[in-house]
Amino acid sequence: MLKIELCIGCGICASTCPFEAIRVDDNRNRRILFYPEKCGNCNFECNESCPTKALQGLPSKEILEFEFAQCAVCGKELQYTSKEAEYLAKKLMKIGENAELAFLCDECKRDRLSFASNHYKGYML
Ligand code: SF4
Ligand code: SF4
Repeated sequence: MLKIELCIGCGICASTCPFEAIRVDDNRNRRILFYPEKCGNCNFECNESCPTKALQGLPSKEILEFEFAQCAVCGKELQYTSKEAEYLAKKLMKIGENAELAFLCDECKRDRLSFASNHYKGYML
């Protein structure tokens, strides 16, 4: 069974399925395609790999669509979905890290971190 509301569109399950019963199609958006008829009944690698526990048992036949996240500073499209960004932001917050980083592209992240470290050096002088 697939708990659609928990799926963040990360596609990790697809990379672990030895029978291509789950596929990722990245185009203008991300689509996760579930083909239960292709399931080879392995040891539920897809269930094990799913970070949100969206997959419990055999996946049902579904095609899910997700928007890619965009950098909150420059607007560049990120390589992961908005739902993944939200999931990552929650994880970062839990460990006391800056959740904002989940919504930034690598360049803006670097700028942000180098600004912070220059600012810090200034304090030390
Ligand atoms: S249980 Fe089926 S769908 Fe899941 S990884 Fe194994 S073969 Fe693929
Ligand atoms: S691993 Fe889980 S959350 Fe990620 S796409 Fe598969 S079902 Fe969705």
